[in-house]
Amino acid sequence: MQRTHIVIVGNGITGITTARFVRKWSNHRITVISAESDHFYSRPALMYLYMGHLTYAQTKPYDDGFWERNDIELLRDYVRSIDTEARRLHLSSGNTLHYDRLVLATGSKSNRFGWPGEDLDGVQGLYGLQDLERMERNTRGIERAVVVGGGLIGVEMAEMLHSRGIQVTFLVRERSYMDYLLPPEESEMVNRHLCRHGIDLRLSTELREILPDEAGRVRAVVTTGGEEIPCRFVGLAVGVHPNVDVTEGSGIETNRGILVNTYFETNVPGVYAAGDCAEFREPPPGRKRIEQLWYTGRMHGYTLARTLCGERTPYRPGVFFNSAKFFDIEYQTYGDVAPVPREGEETLFWQHPSGDKSIRINFRRDDHRVLGFNLMGVRYRHEVCAGWIRQRRPMPYVLAHLGAANFDPEFFARYERELVAQYNARYPDRAVRLKKKKGLWASLTT
Ligand SMILES: Cc1cc2nc3c(=O)[nH]c(=O)nc-3n(C[C@H](O)[C@H](O)[C@H](O)COP(=O)(O)OP(=O)(O)OC[C@H]3O[C@@H](n4cnc5c(N)ncnc54)[C@H](O)[C@@H]3O)c2cc1C
Repeated sequence: MQRTHIVIVGNGITGITTARFVRKWSNHRITVISAESDHFYSRPALMYLYMGHLTYAQTKPYDDGFWERNDIELLRDYVRSIDTEARRLHLSSGNTLHYDRLVLATGSKSNRFGWPGEDLDGVQGLYGLQDLERMERNTRGIERAVVVGGGLIGVEMAEMLHSRGIQVTFLVRERSYMDYLLPPEESEMVNRHLCRHGIDLRLSTELREILPDEAGRVRAVVTTGGEEIPCRFVGLAVGVHPNVDVTEGSGIETNRGILVNTYFETNVPGVYAAGDCAEFREPPPGRKRIEQLWYTGRMHGYTLARTLCGERTPYRPGVFFNSAKFFDIEYQTYGDVAPVPREGEETLFWQHPSGDKSIRINFRRDDHRVLGFNLMGVRYRHEVCAGWIRQRRPMPYVLAHLGAANFDPEFFARYERELVAQYNARYPDRAVRLKKKKGLWASLTT
């Protein structure tokens, strides 16, 4: 019997997770096509390649023989168009490929806003391996750079450049770093941390234009305030948008992303989209229509694989989770932590005197049910935090069992007491008494 041929466009976390689980649960024929790289690598690790912490081989989660051993065909090519009637892909190489089911996992593209000078030599975004190669060339021997855009990729670019001794000016439109996402204390912590590292952080500052030298290479940027800042490199990190190029002329419906239902089905039977490039017609409760995150891509791929293997499964994301790094400060967030507590929400916040570690726990005012955690420079166990949120645990329970989430016993003893004391002072009628036993073992045995 002929095997169903599943073709996946994109070998990022979404496409590869789909492929891995389809292989695990079926004997379908699987082909993964990528224009970017021969093999799957970790995109969030791009910065460590530039900084010399990892080699390219170390960013690949599977050895190169994994694919053949698991009967997953890899094709290095670019899909130019899709003939959905004939179920056929047209590739840049001139070849065509027939599919029975098609998965579009084409990721994102860096935003551009049409600034004068944005196409000059030495001006670029950071998304993939080819960008990294350009950045390598563009920053060789330079002394000054400007990074535009105060998001996660902006701060990564600033750290990358800084690691090579390049003086960085960081233009951030917001009044404080990522204040649309981070509460004021965490946002200010990042501001301080960047300045401590010698980053020339310009808050409430936007780019107006980029100026060339005689050779057509960037020589300076001009801000909307009229200031000219000399530089030989400009990193544009002003967000990403779903990459829907492949759908052009195919009849597959798009809005900002490729439109899908909760089964990742597009309007065309047999064609699915997932990961960064997908946009839900109806987003899952409490989630966005488009979520451009690594862990989200992995969950999309896993769920879609079930459907492709005959068990039509809706996407039901669990408790939200994300992590990032702002130079030396690791950030983790679980559940729902709004930058400013919403009506009916309360927040408990503790900060280390050094100003580079903090814990925030948000909860409901009426029943004190825990809603979310924000951790800066402190690590908690994912499964424990997500479990408490899912189980709707009240704050006294969470505080009494914090040890189960903790990774760092020495440091923990101090902030646990301080957090509990703060909570007890505010809510004496619910006062928490700490047990003697601590840690994961305590929670398993109480
Ligand atoms: C520098 C950087 C750092 C990041 N750090 C984090 C982080 O710390 N945490 C986090 O949660 N997220 C992070 N992200 C976001 C995360 O990497 C993405 O959400 C994730 O990679 C999306 O996975 P994906 O598989 O959907 O798409 P992608 O990883 O973008 O993979 C899509 C692939 O499809 C290929 N492709 C597209 N069109 C075609 C075509 N027509 N033909 C053939 N191939 C095609 C692309 O070249 C690409 O290789 C980061 C992103 C960047 C750029």
